[in-house]
Amino acid sequence: MPNEARYLILLGPPMSGKGTQAARLTQLLGIPQVASGDLFRENIKDETNLGLEAKTYIDRGDLVPDEITIGMVKERLHREDCRGGALLDGFPRTIPQAEALDEILADLGSFLAAVISIAVPEDILVARASGRRICRTCGHSFHLVFDPPGEPDVCDYDGGELYQREDDKPETVRQRLEVYQGQTSPLIEFYRVRSILREINGDQPIDDVAMDITAVINEL
Ligand code: AMP
Ligand code: ZN
Repeated sequence: MPNEARYLILLGPPMSGKGTQAARLTQLLGIPQVASGDLFRENIKDETNLGLEAKTYIDRGDLVPDEITIGMVKERLHREDCRGGALLDGFPRTIPQAEALDEILADLGSFLAAVISIAVPEDILVARASGRRICRTCGHSFHLVFDPPGEPDVCDYDGGELYQREDDKPETVRQRLEVYQGQTSPLIEFYRVRSILREINGDQPIDDVAMDITAVINEL
């Protein structure tokens, strides 16, 4: 029930491995992954009004305005499958989004259990971006070097075609990192002072990061 629900945030810069870790944890914890970037990409694929509006910001590497983003995530969190909690990936990315999240969870009769912050040095983030490939069908994220698909350009789960995200190209990655530094990294302090921040070293093999995150969650 809502009071025992577990709402967690995975916080980190683009390419820190949040999405990969979230996808693994969601099975372990039995709560859904709520990834704002995935929700936007689904809307873009379906050519919804929200998708069309969001696309111009996403293609530039900028943040989609808070009003649009908050509305989309709020609607998602109010769905039945999030009653037991959710693993937030890519949201919040601004202080106003973090404040809105508090309200959304309060409405659901719950609160944030923890914020897991994944730290990775910036030069490594840029290097990682060039190898990321996404499935057109299910959105699963692979990496040519660190998490390669069994067959080149084919999704292991559904045979879907793998593509490189437009916003993973070097120019846009740099813009996304700047946006992270300016608008999202202040959230680390925001949550640290509330004593719900847990910091993880993201510059390790995927399995080791997963172990560290699991250890942190088991302590909650
Ligand atoms: P991601 O898949 O998390 O890297 O998100 C891809 C892009 O979607 C970001 O670069 C932003 O343009 C947009 N986006 C995702 N989440 C948010 C958010 N919480 N606030 C604003 N824009 C977002
Ligand atoms: Zn797939």
